[in-house]
Amino acid sequence: MSSLINKVAVVTGGGRGIGQEIARSLAAQGAKVAVVSRSASSCGKAADEINAAFPGSATAYAVDVADHAAVQELAKTIGEDLGTVNILVNNAGITRDGLLMRMKEEDWDTVLDTNLKGAFNTVKAFMRVLMKAEDPRIINIASVIGLIGNAGQANYSASKAGLIGFTKAVARELAGRKVTCNAVAPGFITTDMTDELSDAIKEAVVAKIPLGVFGETKDIAEVVTFLASPAARYITGQVIAVDGGMTM
Ligand code: NAP
Repeated sequence: MSSLINKVAVVTGGGRGIGQEIARSLAAQGAKVAVVSRSASSCGKAADEINAAFPGSATAYAVDVADHAAVQELAKTIGEDLGTVNILVNNAGITRDGLLMRMKEEDWDTVLDTNLKGAFNTVKAFMRVLMKAEDPRIINIASVIGLIGNAGQANYSASKAGLIGFTKAVARELAGRKVTCNAVAPGFITTDMTDELSDAIKEAVVAKIPLGVFGETKDIAEVVTFLASPAARYITGQVIAVDGGMTM
């Protein structure tokens, strides 16, 4: 299957974890992929790994998605380098966990700026080109925590719930231009982000997952790749939980 030949995708947070797997999966389907992350070493390494498997498919861009002006500049550069953008995946995300009693204003601002404003910045920067592109797609990586909340993650939960609201508003606003916009809400997936959790927390989480295990990055990448494909043209404004049954 090579359903994304001649398509260009931008994947934020593509340097590691879920984003890198999404970028790899889109490249496997024939897309040219702009791999965006904060540090040049991380997106450069991810792009090298993807190019080793799918030569010439990945280009690295080191940009902070929270920086509005830098994202505008990124859109210009990608336009020059790759010509168009058909698929935008807003995956860049961070956590700064802590109970509200101890959460600092900076912890709130940094998480909201990256996880929510970051998606606003990229959609603003790429929407004109998406509206003119073939089979245009926006896919936002939310979280089950944006659906059900979690003690110690008020900032993260608010950012992901906000991203879900943003997804639905964008889906309605851009539907007339045939741009679809959906969210994928992962449950607990094995990455650097969840490696930070203690064994006791991991055990408590697994006890709440009907399928009984953490998910893999591939589980998310497969769903994103489907949503990016022409086969998903009639799906918009949806939140697809990929969580082992956690939120059913
Ligand atoms: P991760 O392993 O920590 O990787 C995060 C990636 O995002 C890195 O490449 C990082 O760049 C990039 N990034 C962070 N802040 C950025 C910024 N301001 N600008 C540009 N890039 C930035 O995370 P992950 O576990 O793969 O998670 C990916 C997404 O899935 C996040 O949105 C997360 O909230 C969501 N999610 C994850 C889980 C899970 O269980 N893992 C569950 C639900 C939702 P550098 O490499 O340069 O640091």
